[in-house]
Amino acid sequence: MKIALIAHDKKKPEIISLAKDYKDILSQHELYATGTTGTMIMGETKLDIHRLKSGPLGGDQQIGAMLANGEIDLIIFLRDPLTAQPHEPDVSALLRLCDVQKIPLATNETSGRIMLESLKNKSFFEVTKE
Ligand code: PGA
Repeated sequence: MKIALIAHDKKKPEIISLAKDYKDILSQHELYATGTTGTMIMGETKLDIHRLKSGPLGGDQQIGAMLANGEIDLIIFLRDPLTAQPHEPDVSALLRLCDVQKIPLATNETSGRIMLESLKNKSFFEVTKE
């Protein structure tokens, strides 16, 4: 599966902790991330990640384009709901596309962990298969 990982700045410690805890299952999939998130996760976990541009510089839109082309199967996007983001329109567009395409999306650490747990025990595929 192709998995996208994104985290706003204040949520980066959470996505690193999540990536460390689920490194084994994540390493079995093709990983994509926005620029800074990808660099930090790779530095902490040595996971192999395709890095796109930084979110505020178009990375969210790049992931949105991939998603529209059927090239992303799951997104963990740890949003910071308490800080204004300069690229809020890009964030909203990406979340909207997930709903348009029915792509599983976790927007906080707990739901991300539940999603990766279900990926690990394969129940994810039972729910998502058409
Ligand atoms: P970043 O982008 O990984 O480059 O920090 C994340 C975002 O703000 O969308």
